[in-house]
Amino acid sequence: MNTSTSQNLFEKAQHYIPGGVNSPVRAFRAVGGTPIFIKSAKGAYVYDEDGNEYIELINSWGPMILGHANELIQQAVSDAIQHSFSFGAPTRKEVEMAELIVSMVPSIEKVRMVNSGTEATMSAIRVARGFTGRDKIIKFEGCYHGHGDSFLIAAGSGAATFGTPDSPGVTKGVAHDTLTAPFNDLAAVQQLVDANKEQIAALILEPVVGNMGCVLPAEGFLAGLRRICDEEGTVLILDEVMTGFRLAKGGAQERFGITPDLTTLGKIIGGGMPVGAYGGRAEIMNWVSPAGPVYQAGTLSGNPIAMAAGLTMLNYLNEHPEVYSQLENSGNKLVTGFKNSQEKLGLNYTLNHIGSMYTLFFTDQPVTDLSSAKSSDLVLFGKYFHAMLNRGIYMGPSQFEAMFLSTALTDDHLNKIIQANEDSLKEIQS
Ligand code: PLP
Repeated sequence: MNTSTSQNLFEKAQHYIPGGVNSPVRAFRAVGGTPIFIKSAKGAYVYDEDGNEYIELINSWGPMILGHANELIQQAVSDAIQHSFSFGAPTRKEVEMAELIVSMVPSIEKVRMVNSGTEATMSAIRVARGFTGRDKIIKFEGCYHGHGDSFLIAAGSGAATFGTPDSPGVTKGVAHDTLTAPFNDLAAVQQLVDANKEQIAALILEPVVGNMGCVLPAEGFLAGLRRICDEEGTVLILDEVMTGFRLAKGGAQERFGITPDLTTLGKIIGGGMPVGAYGGRAEIMNWVSPAGPVYQAGTLSGNPIAMAAGLTMLNYLNEHPEVYSQLENSGNKLVTGFKNSQEKLGLNYTLNHIGSMYTLFFTDQPVTDLSSAKSSDLVLFGKYFHAMLNRGIYMGPSQFEAMFLSTALTDDHLNKIIQANEDSLKEIQS
């Protein structure tokens, strides 16, 4: 495969952009080699600068659930552009957007639009702190909530200890207020809460994790967290930036029957444009400025072009429940094919899967939290990633990512992915 144009662009990019990319994972450092530069995409395919074609399993890390360059969304954006690009003033579409989100996600009574998932989570913990008058939060090891300082925290050494900064530039003071627990470990959460009585403002998690690879909540885990938060007066925040509008119309919370106090959203909600949102119980959201004293603002928040794309996307999902049965069938078909191949090849790698998200972990251990995810053979994953890329399948370039299916994938595409997976697994064993 000729990728010389991508390679030349990457070389130049490194002179002007830190690491040559505008978001670290894009640099392929976890899998080796140099990134391919994307020129265009349509439906189930992306095309790179050298004219190579790939079947999409990233879909812009989730947003493109209907495939690329969906015509309805294109039309909505093109119509909106005729009326200028930004007003910095209220618009009709923002009201329609808020009304639609509230109707699709029943735990959300009021919602504020922002520009990214990071802004959504940062703002959600601020309002949780304002509402409770407490400072500390609990997050789970391996859950990613964007690059806000409070979330870039590594685990402390015990229940009573604080987290430590996971990136230079995050202060010890900030880390002091973030406590961490292993995912799926209710007892660890209970211990943290007991050791920090009446100090925990919020507990935040990805209800289904995408950011240590796809990891599902154990039976009773989410309900247990709800109970602990109720007992403690702690705000339960479900970060559904990835899972929102993907695992069901109402997100993972609909699928698992759990009602959070606040929800953070992003990705699909913008139809591919930079959008995020946070919302939840009116009692809490009324603390947000100007209704209440917790400050949060944005020059481009509720941007009319982004609202046009997002509103069209959500309206489509709301009116077409068959999207979710199609994604469910596609996920099941892919996973069945992968399992058959493993059986044929005498392999037993762990395959975590729900709906249109999956991760193949290069370990035979069950993957239920960050430490079990880390039991994966990362060298083998790197080889697998490149074997798939060479066969025209574009995956997330890290073991610790979930793949995202779109409705643009036909049976033919799925069969191609299954075959590429089998051939790649065979190739990397030798
Ligand atoms: N929360 C989750 C669960 C995410 O997966 C991400 C990004 O991948 C974020 C928050 C941050 O969103 P953004 O990259 O839009 O800032």
